Amino acid sequence: MTTSRIPGFYNLPLEERLDTLAEAAGLTQEELAAFRTPNGLPDDQADHMVENAVGTFGLPLGIGLNFLVNGSEVLVPMVIEEPSVIAGASFMAKLARTGGGFHAETSAPEMIGQMQVLDVPDLMSASLKLYDHRDELLAEADAVDPVLKKFGGGARDLEVRIIEDSPIGAFLVVHLIYDVRDAMGANAVNTACERLAPRLEQITGGRVHLKILSNLADRRLAKARCTIPLKELKIAGRDIISSYTGEQVRDGVIAAWAFAAVDPYRAATHNKGIMNGVDAVVIATGNDWRAIEAGAHAYAARSGRYASLSTWGRDADGNLTGELEMPMAVGIVGGATRVHPAAKAALKLMGAKTASELAGIIVSVGLAQNLAALRALATEGIQRGHMSLHARQVAIAAGATGDMIEKVAAQMVTEKTVRIDRAEEILKKLNPSER
Ligand code: NAD
Repeated sequence: MTTSRIPGFYNLPLEERLDTLAEAAGLTQEELAAFRTPNGLPDDQADHMVENAVGTFGLPLGIGLNFLVNGSEVLVPMVIEEPSVIAGASFMAKLARTGGGFHAETSAPEMIGQMQVLDVPDLMSASLKLYDHRDELLAEADAVDPVLKKFGGGARDLEVRIIEDSPIGAFLVVHLIYDVRDAMGANAVNTACERLAPRLEQITGGRVHLKILSNLADRRLAKARCTIPLKELKIAGRDIISSYTGEQVRDGVIAAWAFAAVDPYRAATHNKGIMNGVDAVVIATGNDWRAIEAGAHAYAARSGRYASLSTWGRDADGNLTGELEMPMAVGIVGGATRVHPAAKAALKLMGAKTASELAGIIVSVGLAQNLAALRALATEGIQRGHMSLHARQVAIAAGATGDMIEKVAAQMVTEKTVRIDRAEEILKKLNPSER
């Protein structure tokens, strides 16, 4: 792909946007068709994916533009029902690219499998014995998934924890560290834990109860950084009240972040904004967004107090700097990633060749989205930008169709009253015959 900057993309009719994408990312007509209803997920395929299927549920798929991640241009597929998110991420990516874009890095794709061992006669001696058998246990876990092994993955380590105090008393927890390469990895890890259980029981004299992956994937982290040049932060409004200097915006963003760094009530909303961007890409690529959500929030609370996942500050030249680090257990193989036609096309659109590249893009989108929210909150407030998009949804909910949607929405925004009862009144006046 030559560039993810496509000026005027939002002004194009939907069909032309698809043509532009095909050209920019080399997607075939069949791949493009996967983005359209009903081809995205045919009924018979849905029927194979879940139980009691009766159909599919559509959500908008949009494209995050302007992303430069580790020097590569990326068009980002985003599936989300909430207005403003895709525009916000794209705008912040545009600012970030003036500072070199996003720099992303990831740790090894290591997941943690947990085995809970109950009724252990001597916890300390059992844990020492487990370490004595470490190599043998890892070899056994390694044999579980020859495909994963072939790609360089497999069992990496064992950790034994003694839980001294719980509602049922003390027990042992064994962590199996497993490199899952380009998969999310739940199945390989769960299978490996189940395979190890009988041997663990022999060694410890206890009874293995739970054997399951942990979603607190804190060994599989993705980190993105960006620098926004001070001059890009300046907002030239219509008047002095709606204008902000670069310094004001930078310091406003940093002060907003500081709030989330110390207060869980604010941090929950701050991180929700990050997840607006993260989840949209996770869903578009057929990955398990509940797993990502669980990991993100557990990681945000790792100090014992729930806090911001991102950090904002300034560099020596006064530019705004941002960093986001979070667990990112996503795959480009396995689960729905290669089954769902639209997820396959979405992966191709992004050009991510490894799970690590995908993770780096996702965390960059999360950082962009975080900045979009902080910048708006620190300046004009979130509602002004959000309202015109929200107004369209309210207009549709009130029954507006076609041209009426824009007309009703525009009037509500002018009146600063975006409510369904007002939308119904406006609609009745504009189009009495239809009501
Ligand atoms: P999977 O088992 O469908 O595919 C992964 C497998 O693909 C690997 O085990 C390996 O055998 C093979 N593979 C081929 N090429 C590979 C490569 N380059 N790198 C790595 N593996 C390669 O999928 P999965 O990733 O094990 O599991 C994901 C699914 O598990 C998701 O649908 C998720 O919702 C579900 N799940 C999640 C949890 C949880 O989060 N707690 C628990 C259970 C299941």
